[in-house]
Amino acid sequence: MIAFAGFSQAQAPGRSGGSLPVLGDTSELPASAERRLGDRIAGSIYRDPDYLDDPVLGDYLQSIWQPLMTAARARGDLGVDLEERFAWEVMLIRNRTINAFALPGGYLGVHLGLIAVVESRDELASVLAHELSHVTQRHISRLMSKQSQQMPWMLAAMILGMLAASKNPDAANAAIAGGQAIAVQNQLNFSRDMEREADRVGFGVMADAGFEKQGFATMFDKLQQASRLNDNGSYPYLRSHPLTTERIGEAKGRLQLEGPAPSPVSGEAGRARVVHAMMAGRARVLGDASADALRLLLAEAQRVPASAAEGLKPRDVGALYAGALAATRLREHSQARSLADKLKTAAAASPSMAPALELLSLEIDIAAGRAAQAPKLANGKSRAAVLLQSQADLAAGRPQDVPDRLQSWVSTHPKDAMAWQLLATAQGQQGQTLRAIRADAESRVAQLDYGAARDRFKAAQDLMRSGRDTGSGASAHIDGSIIDTRAREIDQLLREQALQEKLDRKL
Ligand SMILES: [Zn+2]
Repeated sequence: MIAFAGFSQAQAPGRSGGSLPVLGDTSELPASAERRLGDRIAGSIYRDPDYLDDPVLGDYLQSIWQPLMTAARARGDLGVDLEERFAWEVMLIRNRTINAFALPGGYLGVHLGLIAVVESRDELASVLAHELSHVTQRHISRLMSKQSQQMPWMLAAMILGMLAASKNPDAANAAIAGGQAIAVQNQLNFSRDMEREADRVGFGVMADAGFEKQGFATMFDKLQQASRLNDNGSYPYLRSHPLTTERIGEAKGRLQLEGPAPSPVSGEAGRARVVHAMMAGRARVLGDASADALRLLLAEAQRVPASAAEGLKPRDVGALYAGALAATRLREHSQARSLADKLKTAAAASPSMAPALELLSLEIDIAAGRAAQAPKLANGKSRAAVLLQSQADLAAGRPQDVPDRLQSWVSTHPKDAMAWQLLATAQGQQGQTLRAIRADAESRVAQLDYGAARDRFKAAQDLMRSGRDTGSGASAHIDGSIIDTRAREIDQLLREQALQEKLDRKL
């Protein structure tokens, strides 16, 4: 399993693939226990500085993830019960290596390096479909059941330790030099049979979701090339997903059954390529914030020819997008603007680029201190648009424009920590202290930090009792009762958690 499969023992010939328990094995970890374990791990990842909530890349991942979920549901791979119990959340990790991983409880991690290196949304879909299938086939729970002698809280600590170690392969090798850790990690790796099953199911899910099946093969080619170059250091995905001849053979076989490969990209696929190129460019910028790396990306963008009669190629579009964003980070605002304008010219012929370019343009304006002059977003429905417009309003000194938009957003997306956080800022700037503290508390709940949330609800209750809040009349009364109710609910959650922890430790 998992990102932290940071060593080669997993591929040693002595490791048999025949240990896959029989399907329906009753010894698997129950879904509710697996979810609790996943929540514990996710709560720590949220607090890790390498966890990244980038709404633009997040929306892009969702545009791939949601069709995969729908397909898995329709195929019967994802049942109602599991869907309700698990989180089904994709987390972005600021890491330049090429990796994606499944965690207990339906959490997935995607490294920025993976988005930066794949050449199409179909390739990305092939990796996500594979990881999704590890979860729906309950591979994790079967590994965990083999660990029944391990207590869940210990497992969580171990998985987190290995995730941390995977950031630095050398440190990982040092950290796992102890025999116990190696034994544990070998048990936490998926077996070869599980990998082949995730390939088979994932291929079906991806195809049913409407992605280009060829993406599965080109992704395999990429991995194969990297493994020939012995480039496993930047491809941790290869260490946890060794390319066996069976896997490659089966993947090729599936494609042959599907008929010849489609002709070179054009039409809709071509438009998707261009959008993907921009998102890959964004992942490159966010993956390495050092001035040197940003300068390289800016220089690359400046080499893109001024005009191309046949329109810009995807790689040029990606370079210009990355360059514009890199210039913004370097505070070279006029450079950023001129590269974005170049993109806008190209986009005239390619309307699918427009939403991403509009967001980029607003980001540039905010960074340049021109939020007040920037036009409001025309494509305002996406999460990225809702959050970025709110940031722009705050930067422009218009906090009063923010709460209505975000209140309605969090009413349908109550687990959106960033939205709650922006709402707290806007309410704070308008002197609505109670509401601001509540929104701040809700953002902690969304990131599963119930202790911090309880502290904030308590602070809000203290403030109410002291009578110092500015609110009055009916609205203050409503705010007060919401806060009391939420404080009770969080207390209850914490009590249940403590009780569960006691039970887990007794296992
Ligand atoms: Zn796998």
